[in-house]
Amino acid sequence: ATPLSVMVSTGRAAHMGVLIRSAEALEQSGHVNAVVLDKTGTITAGRPSLTDVLPLGIWRQKPDDLLALAATAEHDSEHPLAAAIIADAKQRGLLTGKSQREAFQVHAGLGITCTVDGHAVAVGNTELIDRLDVGMPSTGNEDLDAIIADMDGLAAQGKTPMLIAVDGELAGIVAVADTVKPDSAQAIAALQSHGIAVTMLTGDNETTAHAVAQQVGVDHVIAGVRPENKADEIAKLQAQGYTVAMVGDGINDAPALVRADVGFAIGTGTDVAIQSADVTVMSGSLQGLVHEIDLAHAALRNIN
Ligand code: ADP
Ligand code: MG
Repeated sequence: ATPLSVMVSTGRAAHMGVLIRSAEALEQSGHVNAVVLDKTGTITAGRPSLTDVLPLGIWRQKPDDLLALAATAEHDSEHPLAAAIIADAKQRGLLTGKSQREAFQVHAGLGITCTVDGHAVAVGNTELIDRLDVGMPSTGNEDLDAIIADMDGLAAQGKTPMLIAVDGELAGIVAVADTVKPDSAQAIAALQSHGIAVTMLTGDNETTAHAVAQQVGVDHVIAGVRPENKADEIAKLQAQGYTVAMVGDGINDAPALVRADVGFAIGTGTDVAIQSADVTVMSGSLQGLVHEIDLAHAALRNIN
């Protein structure tokens, strides 16, 4: 039978909006000594907004057209980065709805491609642009080193820079920024004071990831991880002897949530994340995770 202390702790957690799927999940939580946090939507609010548009070549004369093209190309994307680009273009009144879109394609963990009014448009990270064999702008005498410096400068501010290519040429940089949730730093400090190693896991680039990690006091960062490889990073920590909790909100995080010793779905996470998780923190605050681990320790003390 389930020990009474486990039932009491599970009930207390439920009162705080922390839903624990099983007695085993609670017990495992008491043994966790490594917590892996997804960045977007877990540490940050997950509602990024557009901060910068840096057009290149001929697009320097028509930055609004570039933004409209990028937003139109992103129309069918479900990524929060796409939502930020689209919302900004809409707010500036740039979307007429008359553009023809064809051949939209998601490149998971890289970006998107779409043909807009006959123009091949790509929006994504440097790896996507490399793969598509995009060239420098044919007009305007642009300098690759300056473009790279701009990307790095945006990332160092914790923003996510993306490149836009049109018809096989670089056309500009856009950047999007997300704010950290108000109590992320406090919750991370509490976990660390329990002797738990805290790691950030993200598909975002190294520089952006480190800038955000620094804001919330996370000292281990695993960046540039493709969605299909997130679970492998959990397995690596387990192979080092850690009992691992994974915390995430997205479809991308589901395999890692399943692989972890305890999977936490946070907030208004996607249904897939919630179904894959052992614990759901309904408030969306990382403090819910801290409370659950505290309750697990209390329950274990009473059993042993
Ligand atoms: P995260 O782990 O932060 O959810 P993803 O694995 O979804 O990140 O994406 C990794 C990177 O791929 C993003 O930081 C971005 O550079 C690029 N990317 C992904 N989706 C898009 C998109 N729809 N538009 C532009 N860039 C994208
Ligand atoms: Mg995410």
